[in-house]
Amino acid sequence: MAWFRNLSRFSTINVSRRHDPFLLSSFNCFSSNNINTNPTIEKPSVDPVQYSGLGPTKPHEKPRVVVLGSGWAGCRLMKGLDPEIYDIVCVSPRNHMVFTPLLASTCVGTLEFRSVAEPIARIQPAISREPGSYFFLSNCTGISADKHMVHCETVTEGEQALDPWSFTVSYDKLVIALGAQPTTFGIRGVKEHAIFLREVHHAQEIRRKLLLNLMLSDVPGISEEEKRRLLHCVVVGGGPTGVEFSGELSDFIMRDVRQRYAHVKDYVHVTLIEANEILSSFDVRLRNYATKQLTKSGVRLVRGTVKDVQDQNIILNDGSEVPYGLLVWSTGVGPSPLIHALDLPKAPGGGRIGVDEWLRVPSVQDIFSIGDCSGFVESTGRQTLPALAQVAEREGKYLAHLLNKIGKAGGGRANSGKDIDFGEPFVYKHLGSMASVGSYKALVDLRQSKETKGISLAGFISWFIWRSAYLTRVVSWRNRIYVAINWATTLVFGRDISRI
Ligand SMILES: Cc1cc2nc3c(=O)[nH]c(=O)nc-3n(C[C@H](O)[C@H](O)[C@H](O)COP(=O)(O)OP(=O)(O)OC[C@H]3O[C@@H](n4cnc5c(N)ncnc54)[C@H](O)[C@@H]3O)c2cc1C
Repeated sequence: MAWFRNLSRFSTINVSRRHDPFLLSSFNCFSSNNINTNPTIEKPSVDPVQYSGLGPTKPHEKPRVVVLGSGWAGCRLMKGLDPEIYDIVCVSPRNHMVFTPLLASTCVGTLEFRSVAEPIARIQPAISREPGSYFFLSNCTGISADKHMVHCETVTEGEQALDPWSFTVSYDKLVIALGAQPTTFGIRGVKEHAIFLREVHHAQEIRRKLLLNLMLSDVPGISEEEKRRLLHCVVVGGGPTGVEFSGELSDFIMRDVRQRYAHVKDYVHVTLIEANEILSSFDVRLRNYATKQLTKSGVRLVRGTVKDVQDQNIILNDGSEVPYGLLVWSTGVGPSPLIHALDLPKAPGGGRIGVDEWLRVPSVQDIFSIGDCSGFVESTGRQTLPALAQVAEREGKYLAHLLNKIGKAGGGRANSGKDIDFGEPFVYKHLGSMASVGSYKALVDLRQSKETKGISLAGFISWFIWRSAYLTRVVSWRNRIYVAINWATTLVFGRDISRI
């Protein structure tokens, strides 16, 4: 019966909620070809309207932009798209955007989880209001560029979840903003035993595990050795995320654990393992400052390469064993298997989707790609941009302007708009990098690149700039207020240590 429940929900949402005279004709495009027709499943007494796709747009409808992904790139794009010109359909396994620069702060309770999650319906209200705009909580599983169609599968979670089912969505314009996935370099055991830090549920898992280990280590009968293992937090990867997370952990230990877990305070340790230099993209002076600061606040920096990850131990290349209670993996990102598998041009090097100067995917019609999943094709002579929120955000903003311009000029429909002047190509100007290192200290590097000269600061003023900059970048006023209140509460009362 699961498929029936799913379909009736789908048809209810799409048909009865929206009173549009054109809607039924538009929804006739939902064909039933791909419906799960397992003969063993009991047939419902009243035959539901069976839809398995959102078909091509009709002449009386607005052209449809389908956005794959709800991260920095996809959300900034949706925010800028004009709902008077386009219907917007977003396909993503999460219904919110994650404000990643502040995610590490949620792992130890400096910030609450909701403060870094921005619902899509707030970013682009048309998604929940306009009759032809939708958000589908699903994964894209493939793209048929020749048919202007994406293939999707609904997201399922937990044992009680509905069975997943597949459907298709036709597009006039398609924007691929699928992001990237953490790299594990094929090291055995990473996926099974380490926690990544990319989504809110990762931060929740880290916080639960950290608090669980703190409480377990305090129960009678636990050996000294086990206590030390449980309270050993290991971070692998010395980029900005790994360093910021280590800094947050050390702040948590210095201030909150010492006060509230006084019995075990001397057993808690943080180790940061990095194969090369930490914060390699920063100025050497800032790197040295970060190293000193982290060491001063009790973070043990280990230069080494992880060879194997076991249930309770990490094995390094030199054969040494590092027992751990919490392992966070943050060694950079690369394209997902879906990006690799898509039959689209690729950027040189790592397998990202190739785009031209206007962020179009060459050799296919009406497909654009932005954010961490894309890079310039070789013929542009441009280098692939770093996997950064500021790149993704600016690409999303640029593409929203471009698509609005195309739509206004009458080129919004599939296979139209070839003769429209696209105007200025996308140009990226790096605004600088920031990273907090804990103890109210941060680094601000305003150089355009590693080779150029420019301002770089470290210390309390940088920390103030870091906080102010991110507070102003938080997408909505609601979350800005949440973040400010969380920071103030943490300052006055300390971090929340309840394991909920
Ligand atoms: C902890 C952390 C801290 C960071 N700090 C900074 C910082 O301080 N400054 C900075 O510039 N950058 C920072 N970054 C990097 C920045 O977050 C990324 O570069 C940025 O998120 C890229 O945006 P994106 O839209 O390309 O991808 P993402 O934001 O990753 O979004 C990808 C979207 O695609 C969705 N998706 C994935 N697979 C599918 C599928 N099959 N079908 C449909 N949807 C799918 C995902 O659910 C997600 O919604 C940080 C990253 C992390 C993890």
